[in-house]
Amino acid sequence: MNKAIKKAPAKKEEAETTAAKPAKRARKPGKFTFQSVKGMHDILPVDQVFWDKIRKEVLNISDYYGFERIDTPAIENAAVFEKGVGAATDIVEKEMFYIKSDDKLVLRPECTASVVRAYLEHGMTHLPQPVKLYYFGPMYRHEQPQEGRFREFHQVGFEILGSESDPIYDAQVILACYRLLEACKLSKLEIHVNTIGCRVCRPVFRRRLLEYYKNKPICKDCRRRIVTNPLRLLDCKEEKCEKFKKDAPTILDSTCNNCNTHFKSVVEYLDELKIPYILDNNLVRGLDYYSRTTFEIFETGSKLALAGGGRYDYLVEILGGKVTPAVGAALGVERIVSLMQERNPEMGRKSKVDVFLVHIGSLAKKKSLVLIEELRKGGIRVREALGKDSMKSQLRQADKENVTLALIYGQKEAFEDTIIIRDLANSSQETVPLEKLVAEVKRRLK
Ligand code: AMP
Repeated sequence: MNKAIKKAPAKKEEAETTAAKPAKRARKPGKFTFQSVKGMHDILPVDQVFWDKIRKEVLNISDYYGFERIDTPAIENAAVFEKGVGAATDIVEKEMFYIKSDDKLVLRPECTASVVRAYLEHGMTHLPQPVKLYYFGPMYRHEQPQEGRFREFHQVGFEILGSESDPIYDAQVILACYRLLEACKLSKLEIHVNTIGCRVCRPVFRRRLLEYYKNKPICKDCRRRIVTNPLRLLDCKEEKCEKFKKDAPTILDSTCNNCNTHFKSVVEYLDELKIPYILDNNLVRGLDYYSRTTFEIFETGSKLALAGGGRYDYLVEILGGKVTPAVGAALGVERIVSLMQERNPEMGRKSKVDVFLVHIGSLAKKKSLVLIEELRKGGIRVREALGKDSMKSQLRQADKENVTLALIYGQKEAFEDTIIIRDLANSSQETVPLEKLVAEVKRRLK
């Protein structure tokens, strides 16, 4: 049966309204006929300062570590994820938004498979390897919205494709994520790392896991997982299953020599970098494409991962290419923004403008736009209230902008090509010729 028919069609989605907004939003939504779709939210001007900060730091980090930007469409063929992420994963089985049932098109639930599709489609295999790419964009998962979990959310991702399955790249991806979070002024970060082995040793581990869980009274989801993806038994958060994890076989007892050496090197690189990490045997991640290293980054004490990733040496092959080692990670932007807002609200303050232009009379208003252009050319940041004619209300607005200088441009000044510079701190003022305005403002702002 077609999943588009089985699952809520797009129209029904549109009718649903927002249930969960990012944490700590003080504003109450108004009651209007239309609201944003359930699990999707507007990014308001008050939040954009934080988003801009992340974007800026993503640019810095990518540039520094040599990742080039790639943008792939938000809509992909479902098969990219069915094959790439795995048909039995939660993401593919339960969470994809099918947008056109006959074509099997979906809104992308993640971007790694899309990046690999693009890497193959555009012959990037012929470029010097590895190819290091990064992305920033919206992803879509039909999950039950709750704190930190949305249906439309944004991810930043770093991917290193090609070359050898060299553990130094695993460490570099972890490093890029860690440094990005640090640059967003988040501290108390915890990196959890694990290995989930390769094609050689994972089947051995899987068999041991199946043997261990055979007669255990596990939850309904795990009874399904034991058939489709037994490693995910270790990932289960149900109380009923939690107690079995403690004595479950660990992957490190089953990994082959190559995987052992690889994992040892990854943690040695982290040691060398003096980046703290926690070995976490239960970290298997929900996506099928991972092999060897898996990792997640949390703020200490939180269960919501800020970033997650790992090695995916078989994905290029699964999507039709030659065996090509690769490693990557994605960070959740909404979760990062929410933490930044909690931990460093002062970061949300807009940068200060230099001057406020107050116009009085029609001639001054007429000339105001040209005057603002002159200030722009001179590198002076100006705010105005061009739609307000009363001087009092304009000055009130200037006060809100917290500027120190007001430029008062009245009828007389507009005739004489002069302007008044008023220091709002001490109410002193001076009339200056327009051609000297930029220099005079700069002198006072020093
Ligand atoms: P994943 O692609 O599942 O490995 O997720 C990578 C990161 O994206 C996670 O660590 C989260 O920070 C973020 N993320 C994943 N799913 C969601 C979601 N539904 N809502 C918000 N952020 C998410």
